[in-house]
Amino acid sequence: MAPKDTTPDTQCRPCRGTGRLISGLGGTPREVTCPWCAGTGQFQGPEANAQESGIRLRGGQA
Ligand SMILES: [Zn+2]
Repeated sequence: MAPKDTTPDTQCRPCRGTGRLISGLGGTPREVTCPWCAGTGQFQGPEANAQESGIRLRGGQA
């Protein structure tokens, strides 16, 4: 459903790798640290899972 984009899997999508988001809570938009990547701009969750899956596949039956 989602169109293909050029965003790498390691780039945090909510903040587009900037590490910051604009929060409009309270009616006043302000810049906050992205909670998904802790401001690093790198999204490490899926990559870590992929590595673990790879290890499992290799360690499983051939
Ligand atoms: Zn982020």
